Amino acid sequence: MNWNDVLNYTRNGPAPDRRVTKSEGEWKQQLTPEQYRVTRQHGTEAPFTGEHCATYAPGIYACVCCGTELFDATRKFDSRTGWPSFTEPVKENVIGYRMDTSYGMQRVEVLCNVCDAHLGHVFPDGPPPTGLRFCINSASLQKAGSGPEEGAASGLETATMGGGCFWCTEALLDQLKGVESVESGYAGGVKDNPTYREVCNGGTGHAEVVQVRFDPRVLRYSDLLRVFMLMHNPTTLNRQGADEGTQYRSVIFYHNEEQQAAAEAVIREFQPYWEKPIVTQVAPYTRFYKAEEHHQQYYRKDPGKAYCQSVINPKLARMKEFFREHLKTAEPA
Ligand SMILES: [Zn+2]
Repeated sequence: MNWNDVLNYTRNGPAPDRRVTKSEGEWKQQLTPEQYRVTRQHGTEAPFTGEHCATYAPGIYACVCCGTELFDATRKFDSRTGWPSFTEPVKENVIGYRMDTSYGMQRVEVLCNVCDAHLGHVFPDGPPPTGLRFCINSASLQKAGSGPEEGAASGLETATMGGGCFWCTEALLDQLKGVESVESGYAGGVKDNPTYREVCNGGTGHAEVVQVRFDPRVLRYSDLLRVFMLMHNPTTLNRQGADEGTQYRSVIFYHNEEQQAAAEAVIREFQPYWEKPIVTQVAPYTRFYKAEEHHQQYYRKDPGKAYCQSVINPKLARMKEFFREHLKTAEPA
C-alpha cells in the first residue's frame, strides 16, 4: 500500500472482519485512564513516554481495546519522533482512515477498524517499501502473545481466566496435559501494576486470574474451559466460597474471536447443570499483570498449608475423577 491508497481509504475504507462496540462506561471500566483518554477521546500521549516507543523485539502489536492484531514489529522503525512508528499494518482492513482537520492541519487519523479506537496518524514520509509512517500512541497498543518464543512459532496459545482465588485456579489448571505454564496475576481492572493488597481492597477493578500457556494440539481451549467451569461455581456473582468481592468474579478474558465463541458455547453447555444463571463474564483480554512472586506456584510450594488442604485438595480429587485422561500424572483407570 502507498499514500494514494491511504487517501482513497479515507473516503472508502476496507471493511473489517468483525466489529466490537461498547458503551463509554464499559471502555472506562476496561482501560486505564491514559488508555481511555488516547483511544476513546482521541488523545495523544507525550512523546518518548510510551512503553512501546523504543523497543524493537519481535512480536505483534494488538489494539489495547479489542485485541485485534494491528502491527508487526518487523515493520517498526525508529522515526525519532517518540512514538512507535510502522510502515504498514499486518492487514489493510484492520485500520480505519479518517481525514482529520483539527488544529488547522490536514492529517489522516488512523483508528482500529474493529472498535474505532484512536491509534494515531499516518504520514507520507516513512521509509520503503510503503513510504508511510504510521505514528501510533503506545497507549493504544498491547504486545500480543505471538513473539517467536511464545507465539505462533511454538504453536502455544494463551488463555486468561479467573474463578476466585488464583492459588486454586493455578494449582488445578497446572495439572493438565498440554499446559506449559500457569501464572497468577490480575486482569480486567483500571490500575497499572496493581499489588495484591490493592486488588484485594477491591478498588482497582482487577480480577484474580491465571494466564495459561497451552498447546492446542494436546489440549483444546474448550476443554481447558470445561475444567475451569467445573472447578468453580460460575453462578455466584463476585463470590467464590468464602471469598467475596469483584476480584473473585468468574471471568473469561478471550484473546481472539475463536476463544470468545468457545467461551460462550461452553457457558451454554454448562447452564443446564445449574439452577441459577451462570454469571461468568466473557470479556476481551487487554492486559495481564503478573502477581508477586510469593503468589506463584502457591500450592506446589507448600501443599500442606491449610488453604491447600481444605480448598484445593478436594477440587483436585474431583478433577481426577472427571478429567483423568487430561491429567499430566494420569493414574491407571
Ligand atoms: Zn480495537
